[in-house]
Amino acid sequence: MHEEFNILKIKQLQHLFGEDATLSEVLKQLQSERPFECPVCKGVGHYTQEYPHPNEHGGGDWGYITKTVQCKLCDGTGYTKVKYVPKMKQVGWEEA
Ligand SMILES: [Zn+2]
Repeated sequence: MHEEFNILKIKQLQHLFGEDATLSEVLKQLQSERPFECPVCKGVGHYTQEYPHPNEHGGGDWGYITKTVQCKLCDGTGYTKVKYVPKMKQVGWEEA
């Protein structure tokens, strides 16, 4: 268990924040630098994307494989330094 925790990263955090810093203090500091939840990955740092892929059974059929990719907007941290809103593209005008 705990394979998802990166020892090197935790050591870096320890170096940055001091050995006596509590997790709450570290989290508070990090969240103050990245206060906004990423709208793309909803705070998890990654998302799954579907890629077209030739079907294993052959026959020229195509299927899809899903890959987990790191979120580019938040660099995989799940949170952003600035608030992002969806880009609204105006396509002409219509009667209201
Ligand atoms: Zn993200």
